[in-house]
Amino acid sequence: MLVSAKEMLTKAKAGHYGVGQFNINNLEWTKAILQTAQENNSPVILGVSEGAGKYMCGFKTVTEMTKAMIDELGITVPVALHLDHGTYEGAKKCIEAGFSSIMFDGSSLPIEENIAKTKELVATCNKLGLSLEAEVGAIGGEEDGVVGAGEFADPDECKKIADLGVTMLAAGIGNIHGKYPANWPGLNFDVLDQIQQRTGEMPLVLHGGTGIPDDMVKRAISLGVSKINVNTECQLVFAAATRKYIEEGKDEVGKGFDPRKLLAPGTQAIKDKVKEKMEMFGSIDKA
Ligand SMILES: [Zn+2]
Repeated sequence: MLVSAKEMLTKAKAGHYGVGQFNINNLEWTKAILQTAQENNSPVILGVSEGAGKYMCGFKTVTEMTKAMIDELGITVPVALHLDHGTYEGAKKCIEAGFSSIMFDGSSLPIEENIAKTKELVATCNKLGLSLEAEVGAIGGEEDGVVGAGEFADPDECKKIADLGVTMLAAGIGNIHGKYPANWPGLNFDVLDQIQQRTGEMPLVLHGGTGIPDDMVKRAISLGVSKINVNTECQLVFAAATRKYIEEGKDEVGKGFDPRKLLAPGTQAIKDKVKEKMEMFGSIDKA
């Protein structure tokens, strides 16, 4: 069964730890993350971008696959299936397809329009018992082809959006999607603290988790971040492990070309990475 992210994040905020959102791309990804969450007794959020949803043949396919997998694998830890950086239309599609959590990213819209659309989705999600993540101000880097520049959210705008009744709030504090440049100045904890002061109990979300040093992530968690998004890092370890398998010629030995063998090292690499993150976020045994 899929659950809303509200309870797991409320507990995380109160308990001063973080819950990871790990983005999925296919069956192997989903299985690896679900199994790791279960093995470590950790709550988990599966993130699905609109691009990944399309790749996996639509949101309905994703919902049905995930629900069936939870059932077949005997997963008992809380699992939220979450739309990552949704458009208004994408959010509606995911609600219809049975997602348990939605992110509406209106950060590129004028603040009044972001507020109006977020407000409407709050009402829908509340009625259906789904969690809703909103975003204020652009976060740097690349998100399905959209490039930003390490921007910061305005704490007053954060309060306006938080007051609409969203479940969790993504706010730029110098974080970037994808790989961080060598001259990146780091997260801005003053901005984070101001946002936290204005938004109170609202769990905050840290996007672009790949490449932020562990001590910065831990400090962000101590300052009110309860959800950390991890995407690129799993892609990098999956690619590296697959590359190693091929470069060592293992696909040419015996039945090494069997996709179940070919994809196994990459899948294991995702499991190891997810476990490492859960340990760092402090979510192990918090299911
Ligand atoms: Zn993001």
